[in-house]
Amino acid sequence: MNIILLGPPGAGKGTQAARLIADRGLVQLSTGDMLREAIKAASPVGLRAKAIMEAGELVPDEVVNELIAGRLDLPERYSGAGFIFDGYPRTEAQAVSLDALLSERDMKLDHVIELIVDEDALVDRITGRFSCSKCGEGYHDRHKLPKVPSLCDVCGAEEAFKRRPDDTEQTVRTRMAEYRAKTAPILPYYEARGLVRRVEGMAPIAEVERAIEAILDAA
Ligand code: AMP
Repeated sequence: MNIILLGPPGAGKGTQAARLIADRGLVQLSTGDMLREAIKAASPVGLRAKAIMEAGELVPDEVVNELIAGRLDLPERYSGAGFIFDGYPRTEAQAVSLDALLSERDMKLDHVIELIVDEDALVDRITGRFSCSKCGEGYHDRHKLPKVPSLCDVCGAEEAFKRRPDDTEQTVRTRMAEYRAKTAPILPYYEARGLVRRVEGMAPIAEVERAIEAILDAA
């Protein structure tokens, strides 16, 4: 089963993807994560993407299309139950490219799940978030602080918290504008094929997860 998770920054795509991996063995393909890895490794892709990402703008289509093409051919594809595309596609050109990449491999999309969210609440959600760099557990300045300030509740790592450099209010506003202008317009492309399902993304995490599971189970 291959799924796209669609929604503006902070809608909970990464959180829900993590749950689907744990519950269903799906393989997550997050272009944002791939780009952050490329920046860390100072690879040519990373050097090209860094300033664009810090400004909250979209990296060129051909860069992310190539990242995805490379991952679809990794061996994990054959052992998994399918893919969750998280943060990809973000433009119509990427959607068209993904269709071609999948059909060349005799694969298809099963669902496009759109997380519906309130933008002002998202700014609050994003500008306060941080996570443990060791285990990935997510925290929030106003809603979920670690029990001991310097220690991760889950893995106990000390002083290991990190924040994304693009989680500032100004960048978040730009990322949302990019979503409205370039990503939301791809919904009709998938709606025409009856693939889009909508989920209330401001609900508690477990509730959002249940709604997504119900969609996948009904298939
Ligand atoms: P994310 O982790 O999905 O929020 O992505 C973080 C940033 O990476 C975005 O604001 C973009 O600058 C870049 N990015 C991630 N995925 C894509 C994509 N599919 N197309 C273009 N840029 C992307």
